Amino acid sequence: MSDYHPETLAIRTQTERSLHQEHSAPVYLTSSFVFDTSEEMRASFAEEKKRNIYSRYTNPNCAELVKKICLMEGAAQGVTFATGMSAIFSTFAALLDSGDHILSARAIFGNTHTLFTKYLPKWNISHTYFDGTKLDDLASKVQSNTKVIYVESPTNPAIDVIDLQALADFSKKHNLIFIVDNCFATPYLQQPIRFGADVVIHSATKLLDGQGRTMGGIAVGSYELIDKIYRFARVTGPALSPFNAWTISKSLETISVRVDRHCKNALELATHLENQPQIKKVRYPFLPSHPQYALAQKQMKAGGSIVTIELDGGLQKGRDFLNTIKMCSLTANLGDTRTIVSHPASTTHSKLSSAERDEVGISDGLIRISVGLEHIEDIKNDIIQALEN
Ligand SMILES: *Cc1c(COP(=O)(O)O)cnc(C)c1O
Repeated sequence: MSDYHPETLAIRTQTERSLHQEHSAPVYLTSSFVFDTSEEMRASFAEEKKRNIYSRYTNPNCAELVKKICLMEGAAQGVTFATGMSAIFSTFAALLDSGDHILSARAIFGNTHTLFTKYLPKWNISHTYFDGTKLDDLASKVQSNTKVIYVESPTNPAIDVIDLQALADFSKKHNLIFIVDNCFATPYLQQPIRFGADVVIHSATKLLDGQGRTMGGIAVGSYELIDKIYRFARVTGPALSPFNAWTISKSLETISVRVDRHCKNALELATHLENQPQIKKVRYPFLPSHPQYALAQKQMKAGGSIVTIELDGGLQKGRDFLNTIKMCSLTANLGDTRTIVSHPASTTHSKLSSAERDEVGISDGLIRISVGLEHIEDIKNDIIQALEN
């Protein structure tokens, strides 16, 4: 099976057919699973027998999704979650002990930042941020209690590209667990485990579903690490609904065609916007002007769906731009079929101080565009009319 290409694996990986011989996988909306004998029940609870017991533990739809993502990412095992954030929280809660320290790239998802600064300290877990684009003095930030290195690449929303191979080598040398949030890239464009990452996390809410319908999350990695995460999750209960697992798994059947078009539209839009006088800067990993263009070409199959533009004129200009948009959606999601524009400084990253925002490359006039699958001319026209008005 794993000899197939990722496009094929995302289509042909399927939970075992039922006695009805359905072509498309059914939804297993059941809380629990029945046993024929008391002995079978005993053996299942004792984990002598591997089978479904209760959907907080495992469910056929969740197992199908896990198998697909594992095959696409090159991972041994995985666990699904209700959301991306529950995958991130459970991973840290399961792998870290009180007194441990996280070394994290500074540019991370806003809620992950809040997890590090507000909640993990309750359990005496500390963190230090580093600039993911400057790894030279990283060794000086490693402490005797450092256990994990954590990054996203490309980053949100500054679209920096971080060297996964360099960080994997660094983690091995310092005996750290290297965790990557691969949400922006998707397993179709980038497989961090192939560079040496230990755990890869996704918010399935974004491009894995890709149609703005369901929430979901997943963590994949080695048997040993994922088993710890799985045991934490089955007790604490952030389980993915079988219906959402089914939706996301069906969506993966089209991930290659969707993401190809997202990337084609995004590159064309970014190239077009680079010549607009109202824009100070355009950022997209596959634009030759991107500071880590060569690295992006090395570790990603294409540039992804996110383009950022920096407007001249600060906070008010950013908000004015959103108010003049006609077609694109003003909403908190990304990686949808519909193009979405957002203004991080006044929304997702408003909890950061202005200085903290500067450090992660979020200027007051920064607009994030999650480029969708509409006709490229319609996307371009909407952005251009908003710039001009
Ligand atoms: C959206 C997102 C998350 C959180 O995922 P949810 O499914 O919303 O909980 C984590 N990391 C990144 C990079 C994201 O974009």
